Amino acid sequence: MLYGLKDAGYEAYLVGGGVRDLLAGLEPKDFDIATSAHPEQIRKVFRNCRLIGRRFMIAHVRAGEEILEVTTFRGAITDSHERDETGRILSDNVYGTLEEDAFRRDFTVNALYYDIRDFSIADFAGGVDDLQARQLRLIGDPELRYREDPVRMLRAIRIANKLGFEIASDTAEPISRLAPLLREIPPARLFDEILKLLLNKDAVANFEELRRYGLFAELFPATERAINAAKRDLQLLRIALASTAERVKRDLPVTPAFLYGALLWPPYADRAYELEYERGHDAVTAQNQAADEILARQQARIAIPKRFSLPMREIWSVQPRFEDLRPGRARRLLTHPRFRAAYDFLLLRAQAGEPGCAALAEWWTQAQVTLGQGGDAPPLPSPELLESGAADEAGDGEPGDNAGAPKKRRRRGGRNRRKA
Ligand code: ATP
Ligand code: MG
Repeated sequence: MLYGLKDAGYEAYLVGGGVRDLLAGLEPKDFDIATSAHPEQIRKVFRNCRLIGRRFMIAHVRAGEEILEVTTFRGAITDSHERDETGRILSDNVYGTLEEDAFRRDFTVNALYYDIRDFSIADFAGGVDDLQARQLRLIGDPELRYREDPVRMLRAIRIANKLGFEIASDTAEPISRLAPLLREIPPARLFDEILKLLLNKDAVANFEELRRYGLFAELFPATERAINAAKRDLQLLRIALASTAERVKRDLPVTPAFLYGALLWPPYADRAYELEYERGHDAVTAQNQAADEILARQQARIAIPKRFSLPMREIWSVQPRFEDLRPGRARRLLTHPRFRAAYDFLLLRAQAGEPGCAALAEWWTQAQVTLGQGGDAPPLPSPELLESGAADEAGDGEPGDNAGAPKKRRRRGGRNRRKA
């Protein structure tokens, strides 16, 4: 790979997260390559190469199983770079030298260039020292660098947690102040970054840090309001992220649909409740309208592709159907294509202490065995159990429903949760 470029007379180095992780003692995920060759020249060296123009031309070169990202050295930032009114760089297509490329990178530890010919490392920004001191530090003036690209605030949190490094104080300081700059970032890019942060083994730590710096409130404003109003909602997110992280660690599949289902559940459930019990809509209308509203507002920040938002809505729409314990209905629900994910979601709500969910979860756990094998339905939970589960918000339930078909119960409890 590197030899191909070098043999053709170009400079080429491994750089980025792969080198950083290797030197920090972690297993590198992939390597990026920085070269003096221009995109067209890269293409001449490698037949199996695809040029991808995003903000900057990148060549994807296939090397066996893997795809390597090859980028041409970027030039120093000059006035010729187009910026928006907040300082964000819009176009970026000036080529430069190795050293100029180093100063264009975000963190010092991301700007280490490894030359596989002589195993030397080129370090223009002090990355080796920072690696030793376990510090994540932006190159250059932090405020300016965040203004150029506010996503660096998210990267700081993710990479620091990944490495177990501290964010250097001058690198951390501007974040809370500049968090609103995230509003300038295209929602599709934020979708990718959020997955990197939260569909991740460090999901819980990343979530806590995003909140600490006020970044979460920019990304998920409605969720931030809901979790500030009700502890149980914060609990739900923590449990969801912890189980996501666990699955990632064990290499089990994880889906953005479930993740977003949890992230947006607090404002969705609040709104559905409000539309049903305070505005008098029927349950299904209330749920649909709530999902439409919450999703539309969220899309203004983070673009959730339909292939995830549709299953997410299905997971939500199955939740009230778990309250219908009539054997015929239950048997039918068991065959719902989204049953498994929806059931996992019910377990999550039960763990978070949503009223009645523990009893329902228990019933459905048994029902999968009994009904699923053509047997009888499990015994019905007592009405008290269906109302319990949220000791802190007790006393808000409605009178017990008829045992055969529990209909509408207050899922959201706590009248104090939405006073203003
Ligand atoms: P990982 O791959 O582990 O998520 P990474 O640091 O390799 O982390 P990539 O997105 O793969 O992240 O980027 C590769 C390299 O490109 C980075 O190490 C950094 O040098 C540079 N880079 C990426 N994003 C930015 C950015 N927003 N601003 C400046 N440099 C960046
Ligand atoms: Mg990388």
